[in-house]
Amino acid sequence: MINIKNNLHNIVKQIEAACAAAHRAHASVKLLAVSKQQSVEKIRAAFAAGQQCFGENYAQEALQKIQKLQDLPLEWHFIGHIQSNKTRIIAENFSWIHTIQQKNIAMRLNHQRPENLAPLQVCIQVNLAHEPQKAGIDPKELLPLAHYIQQLPHLNLRGLMTLPPANLINYAEQYAHFLQLVDLKILLQQEGFTIDTLSMGMSHDFAAAIAAGATIVRIGSAIFGERIS
Ligand SMILES: *Cc1c(COP(=O)(O)O)cnc(C)c1O
Repeated sequence: MINIKNNLHNIVKQIEAACAAAHRAHASVKLLAVSKQQSVEKIRAAFAAGQQCFGENYAQEALQKIQKLQDLPLEWHFIGHIQSNKTRIIAENFSWIHTIQQKNIAMRLNHQRPENLAPLQVCIQVNLAHEPQKAGIDPKELLPLAHYIQQLPHLNLRGLMTLPPANLINYAEQYAHFLQLVDLKILLQQEGFTIDTLSMGMSHDFAAAIAAGATIVRIGSAIFGERIS
């Protein structure tokens, strides 16, 4: 039996240690518990242990869980590939989206976000390693997409997200990779964008991500154990 309370406690301690080592305030890093392919019971256990923000990758699976967990004050983040026939589910049920990479998807989300809800908090997903099979935009396409999102009233551009290639084996390589996302954030700020978010770092590389400047780390298996698929 995995102990979610212990796992969460350990991760929070490690995040605090990474923040201290980087001379950063602990409150500057938000822990997103990635609950894809994990049960509603495990999410309840994490909430009981103090976790409020959860990340999901699949719209239909997420919707079922969100409906079953409506009694809890949870904050839902969408971190998966966005199919255009799923934008309405996402626009109606999530607070954050980390994986915007297309204008037409941004337009649909803006259009489908209910008027009575706060704007969707969004990040643009960047493919820093130019991996053809991976999601995310090429850094060259960042400014036009950011300008496009900026003028959509129901989307609030908060920053950037990346999913590094799996072959970064050590801390130094991970750190160097994450610094590239920091450079793009600075570029956007110099262009006048008021963004504050870098979504980077997962179970195996969040310490390097925090050292580089992550403000949201997305951690799944280290909290919930192996995923059921
Ligand atoms: C699954 C997933 C995570 C969590 O990965 P772990 O290695 O289980 O921590 C984080 N971000 C994204 C985009 C994911 O798809």
